[in-house]
Amino acid sequence: MCLFCEIAAGTIPSKKAYEDETVVAFYDIAPQAPVHVLIIPRKHIESAQVLTETENALLCHMFEVARSLAVELGVAESGYRLITNVGPDAGQSVPHLHLHLIGGKTLNWNN
Ligand code: 5GP
Ligand code: ZN
Repeated sequence: MCLFCEIAAGTIPSKKAYEDETVVAFYDIAPQAPVHVLIIPRKHIESAQVLTETENALLCHMFEVARSLAVELGVAESGYRLITNVGPDAGQSVPHLHLHLIGGKTLNWNN
């Protein structure tokens, strides 16, 4: 099992921000901003590069969860960034699709 599959299953602990049958959100262990949450599907998908139409509803739901968390964590009005890294040049370090929800400060392109 990959790291994020283990976090989704609860075998590796994390501070959860949200979870349901298909999606889990948890606080990043090395936050890059005052708000830094990772939103992942429970299903193991390596990255955005291998998404297919089968995941249409799941992907939409991940954005829905991100939107709700942005409200809950107080950044919906101030703004936030949703990032998904794909592959080595982007610095993807965990091969399980994840959205970074980052906010709570003015963001530059290099963070
Ligand atoms: P990536 O670099 O693949 O886009 O993002 C992976 C993210 O996962 C990084 O921001 C990193 O800090 C976070 N991360 C790595 N290991 C753990 C962990 O065990 N727990 C939590 N909560 N976050 C982790
Ligand atoms: Zn996985």
